[in-house]
Amino acid sequence: MKAGQHGQSSARPVRFLDLAATGEDIGDAVDAVWAQVTSTSGFVGGPLVERFEAEWAAYCGTQHCVGVGNGTDALQLILEGLGIGADDEVIVPANTFFATCEAIVAVGARPRFVDVDPETLLITADGISGAVNARTAAVIAVHLYGQLPDMDAVVALAERAGIALIEDAAQAHGATWRGRRAGSFGVAAGFSFYPGKNLGAFGDAGAVVTNDQALTARIRSLANHGRAPHAASVHDLVGINSRLDALQAGVLSAKLPHLDGWNAARRSAAECYHERFAGSGVHTVTVRPDAVTSSHLAVVSVPGRDRVRAALADQGIESGVHYPIPCHLQAPLRSICDEPLPVTESAAERILSLPMHPHLTEDQLERTSDAVLEAVADERSL
Ligand SMILES: *Cc1c(COP(=O)(O)O)cnc(C)c1O
Repeated sequence: MKAGQHGQSSARPVRFLDLAATGEDIGDAVDAVWAQVTSTSGFVGGPLVERFEAEWAAYCGTQHCVGVGNGTDALQLILEGLGIGADDEVIVPANTFFATCEAIVAVGARPRFVDVDPETLLITADGISGAVNARTAAVIAVHLYGQLPDMDAVVALAERAGIALIEDAAQAHGATWRGRRAGSFGVAAGFSFYPGKNLGAFGDAGAVVTNDQALTARIRSLANHGRAPHAASVHDLVGINSRLDALQAGVLSAKLPHLDGWNAARRSAAECYHERFAGSGVHTVTVRPDAVTSSHLAVVSVPGRDRVRAALADQGIESGVHYPIPCHLQAPLRSICDEPLPVTESAAERILSLPMHPHLTEDQLERTSDAVLEAVADERSL
């Protein structure tokens, strides 16, 4: 028997993401976008961007949306727009993508790391409350893996503490807490439309949503070299260049009608993993009854995570870890946090992200969950 024919190694791989299938769902809508962009030469900003901004604000349940270059810039522009900078602290969960912290450091403020809830791996109102001090300007609630934390508690705490609540909704397009969509709870929220997100562009893209008109105007200016409205050569502020391309906006508008269906398909895949792992010692991240997750990632907690991952890879099943090194332990940020964050640190050793996208087949879900169960059983018998 030849090497490639041995056992399961010849089975078709299970991809972590399947962007090609999402592309097929939108058919030739993108061709029309491309034709419009090239025939008008309106490459940056313009009617396609204005249209998507209006659609995205309406979808999120906010009054305003500013399209920007990416999700990291969206967060940085919110902080800068609120006047947060040197001498300010911004509370942030250590269990997040590094970009959340980069935005804080970029405006000259200091991240103040907090631990997370052991079941959801999300920030908690108690955690925030324990970290508030006289320098605290804001908290960034990260809707990690697609789930909003207890927003009743978080909103109430931020109000009581007199600090700005900012949402990092980069993984939570369309997710809700008690029926309200991600992005509509804080003073403003940052979204990423990086291709691998639930709503993804054909390159980098992002947006800020908010109900604050003055903040909207300031962020719109900051994202466009600090320009005055309607006066391209007058600069009111020193800003950056972080604008949304028309092509990306057109792609996002073409995809938006599919978002809820794609999220529902992700949730049923997540439900399938959850059912197959019941009683097995493989723990899926808890979803609270008040939350509807966007199921951006399917995160489980397993013993011997790296060996389990290797066993999956042997069967052609891709996986990831989000995130193996918590932000407070990353080299450039290590010196600013001297407290241990035990929940975050122990989760980082056990979490594993399984294939998750709207087009996973029954067969792929079954092969993946069987492989996980088998690898965990082997782990137990070590
Ligand atoms: C993707 C992501 C970002 C950054 O978005 P980019 O568009 O890649 O800059 C920020 N926060 C979280 C939680 C993310 O997942």
